[in-house]
Amino acid sequence: MTAPVIGVLALQGDVREHTAALAAAGAHARPIRRPTELETVDGLIIPGGESTTISKLTDLFELREPIDKRIADGMPVYGSCAGMIMLASEVLDGRADQRGFAGIEMTVRRNAFGRQVASFEAPVNLDGIDGGPLHALFIRAPWVEHVGRGVEVLGTVTEGPAAGRIVAVRQENLLATAFHPELTGDRRLHAYFADLVRAAI
Ligand code: GLN
Repeated sequence: MTAPVIGVLALQGDVREHTAALAAAGAHARPIRRPTELETVDGLIIPGGESTTISKLTDLFELREPIDKRIADGMPVYGSCAGMIMLASEVLDGRADQRGFAGIEMTVRRNAFGRQVASFEAPVNLDGIDGGPLHALFIRAPWVEHVGRGVEVLGTVTEGPAAGRIVAVRQENLLATAFHPELTGDRRLHAYFADLVRAAI
């Protein structure tokens, strides 16, 4: 099986962790900072970090239009945490000037889990991923408040005060999680995304 080439948007955030997770999942990973680099990849990951900063740097590095265009052309994209926010069609509690990509029809609330429980861990079962729940790590994470008709809910929080909240979704080739699989050593989600990219080549 050929290894897909997957870029990690390398403007800000946990780029190295995603790159390592992709390599462990059998993909060729490369950091992306320029439009010419974007042209060389079959899929893209938008890492966790700070969505307002990623939004600003996307414009500065002249990547907005090229990424929007690749998404419109069907390139698979996976966003974790801040990356989920960047893929949402609507953001609540965002900054007025932050802008995402032409992405998933969903409303996400930024920093939704609140200050008291700004970071927590919880098991999350994901549709399409075998082997039991993922140990999901949430860090000032968003949750999904509403999804459009074309969006598949892949996972919700199963226990604790946030039980029932949607934290993983997919709309065709776009995948987003509120949590950070790149930080836990569980490579199943990256392998799932690598399969999605392979199928789209
Ligand atoms: N709160 C951050 C944001 O608004 C996301 C946090 C994260 O990616 N861990 O972008």
